[in-house]
Amino acid sequence: MATTQAASEKITSVTAIPAFIKDSPKKLLIGGKWVSAKSGKTFESINPATEAVICQVAEGDKADVDEAVKAARKAYETGKWSAMGPHERGRLLLKIADLIEKYADELALLESLDNGKPVVQAKNIDVRGAAAQFRYFAGWPTKIYGETNPSDPSIFSYTLREPMGVCGLIVPWNFPLLMAVQKTAPALACGNTMILKPAEQTPLTALRFGEILLEAGVPEGVVNVITGFGPGAGSSIAEHPDIDKVSFTGSTEVGKLILQASAGNLKRVSLELGGKSPNIVLPDADMDAAVNTAVNGVFFNSGQVCVAGTRIFVQRDQYEGFVERLTQASRKMTIGDPLSPDTRLGPLVSKEQFDRVNNYLEIGKKEGARVTIGGEKVSGKGYFVKPTVFADVDNKMKIAREEIFGPVAAAIPFKDENDAILQGNDTTYGLAAAVWTRDVSRAHRVARALKAGTVWVNNYGSSDVAMPFGGYKQSGFGREGGRHVIDLFTQIKSVYVKL
Ligand code: ADP
Repeated sequence: MATTQAASEKITSVTAIPAFIKDSPKKLLIGGKWVSAKSGKTFESINPATEAVICQVAEGDKADVDEAVKAARKAYETGKWSAMGPHERGRLLLKIADLIEKYADELALLESLDNGKPVVQAKNIDVRGAAAQFRYFAGWPTKIYGETNPSDPSIFSYTLREPMGVCGLIVPWNFPLLMAVQKTAPALACGNTMILKPAEQTPLTALRFGEILLEAGVPEGVVNVITGFGPGAGSSIAEHPDIDKVSFTGSTEVGKLILQASAGNLKRVSLELGGKSPNIVLPDADMDAAVNTAVNGVFFNSGQVCVAGTRIFVQRDQYEGFVERLTQASRKMTIGDPLSPDTRLGPLVSKEQFDRVNNYLEIGKKEGARVTIGGEKVSGKGYFVKPTVFADVDNKMKIAREEIFGPVAAAIPFKDENDAILQGNDTTYGLAAAVWTRDVSRAHRVARALKAGTVWVNNYGSSDVAMPFGGYKQSGFGREGGRHVIDLFTQIKSVYVKL
């Protein structure tokens, strides 16, 4: 692809910029110190736009997780974080937000190089979102209340809301910094200590974040960062007998493994997993808005979004016209150099993901779906996949049932409102859904009927750190965001005092 060559030139010159990358191999953060993996092993972090090695990263495994857990346990038991006054803890979280903003350009560049997402989006969405998370959760340490309970005259009963203890935070590669922060900020606000494991495809911003936490003055051992692979680093966290809680975001398949592994010590688990979200365009919708938003809803971040609106439902008599407009709008999704400000879609994160998505393109064609745009393998350097629209999709096809995690839309016809709801809900997932209509009663009726943790009406993908986020069905359980995540990172103690 022509743009890929340009991408590699620009990226080569820009990779020279962050000193952070030159200092390779990157190390693990354990007990406030940067250390090599005990095995001495490292792995490569690859730039998916050029396939070039960015740097080497320590490959942590069980032995390193054990050390990190010891450090986190020590930090927890000494109370250097949990017993720090709530006002002081809040101030520290605000300082982290300030530092994330101070280093926004560098973080955005690292994220773009490591993940392939357009640098403009990395800065405006990922990095700004990360700072916003810390600002929001900085308000929480002073607002985590227990209760005074009605009790017998001879007893004074109250509850304390206490931290969980040592938490394992396992995050995916699609929004590496943002996902790390989405878990770290509330876990810190609640007074926990933790081990953060970024995805092996995108370890860099989590490591830079570790430096920022130390610079902000987070005491040693409170946040430990272990880079490495799922089996090895991730599984050791999931199984660890001295980790009290695991918060995981990733595939449904791995979510099930995490849940099984948690049984050993009955650690608390929250899971934010996959999706196959329906985006339902009812016939009275504002079609301009519906088409343009649907394109973003499915192709943003090259479709590597758990809430991507991958199944677009359109009433049968409007179907052909809508598909035509969807196809036209998809042409505007400029694909290429993630460092160019005009790029809307970067490459997919890895060769594995590139092969997976291309395989689904073949499956879709074999199943009899009609490609209206894209649908082909892109040759040349970089893991680029063109935005693809499949028309004439049946909701029973594989491409309508399985999470592809790439820029692939399936347009599915429906008969009437009820049929749209039934087909929309006919999935093992339940992360998000959207409905487009100008009829306010219909909007609320459909929003109630959709089995999903988030429903958008006449928009797609809006989010707010103060709102809960999580799934129905096999999209997981637990709600991150807003006050609900406080429940995930705290536990309640009942105290009875004899008067
Ligand atoms: P994806 O399929 O999107 O790559 P995964 O669910 O495989 O997502 O990965 C999400 C996170 O889970 C990553 O940090 C990965 O290293 C980790 N992971 C993968 N396998 C396991 C496992 N068996 N136990 C714990 N963590 C894992």
